[in-house]
Amino acid sequence: MVQRLLQPGEIEALDHNAIPRLHLPRPASLFEARARRLRQLAAGEVPGIPVEEALRGYLGLMAVVADAQHALVARLGPTGVVLPDQAALRAAHDHNMPPLPVSGARPANWQAVFGALLDVLAEAENAPPQLAPALAALRATPSAELEGIADAVLGSYPDGADPLRAPFVAAALQVAWSMMAAQLDEAWAQPLMTGTLCPVCGSHPVASVVRIGGQSQGYRYLHCSVCESEWHMVRVKCSCCEANGKVSYQGLVAHDADPIAENKQAAKAGKPLDKANDPTKVARAETCDDCWTYRKIFNQEHDFHVEPLADDLASMLLDVLVTEAGYSRASGNPLLWLRENQ
Ligand SMILES: [Zn+2]
Ligand SMILES: [Zn+2]
Repeated sequence: MVQRLLQPGEIEALDHNAIPRLHLPRPASLFEARARRLRQLAAGEVPGIPVEEALRGYLGLMAVVADAQHALVARLGPTGVVLPDQAALRAAHDHNMPPLPVSGARPANWQAVFGALLDVLAEAENAPPQLAPALAALRATPSAELEGIADAVLGSYPDGADPLRAPFVAAALQVAWSMMAAQLDEAWAQPLMTGTLCPVCGSHPVASVVRIGGQSQGYRYLHCSVCESEWHMVRVKCSCCEANGKVSYQGLVAHDADPIAENKQAAKAGKPLDKANDPTKVARAETCDDCWTYRKIFNQEHDFHVEPLADDLASMLLDVLVTEAGYSRASGNPLLWLRENQ
């Protein structure tokens, strides 16, 4: 059966009032926001996501990495990583494939981007003590081995990813892919046959996020772990198998936040009750009893500053709770590689 493919521009022409199906990334601001959020989480300042002491140092280290990603984006300039040529984009489109596939050729300068990331990190002020040995190991990595780690990161093969070096390789790849995605004409990224992979690069999402504001109000998006695009998926649907019959939600109990008590205090002070900003609804796991996996969902209606990748990293307690209940994690976080991650 030959399926008729939509041409660039046709999708948007179908309905101007449709839910925005895709948000391409804004690398000039996203890594800065992520660094800020990681520090907020590490400082224990997010009521919906209590962070245990042992994780705070790692979040601080990843905040330094996000700072470096931000500086690198500025240093490279908007076209510092070039898009594939029109023929490649056209071929991907004609085969209903993502236009910037992580399984395809990597940008020619990605290793230079990686080297520049290490240079920026070497200049980091107040660098945590774990950074120097990591940088030394990264600089000593031969080019071919680096490609192997990139294969593991982009193919999500946790066994091929060295936990020490993989997060830094992933950080460089995020810079390269998000900078390409930011230059892309959205029309090249048509919906894929599956809604569970990124329509821009074909990667797995790191988590879901319920967005607020404009036409995206209250809608759920999946956040790509590599190119940082977000694509729409209806709520209460498994982001792994796309079934919707046995989906439920498990919360992360916020020990130090009691919305009922807060609302009582608000009532005493004559303030209106606040249905938004409920800390118990900021971070939840969406579990599926059809495929027995879970993925986390963060809700901007209850915390304006949610950042899917940072919040996923910081809410490891939720992974423990849901894994103990028998669910497997649907896909990993590119900034954390544990052998048992997936
Ligand atoms: Zn992507
Ligand atoms: Zn499922």
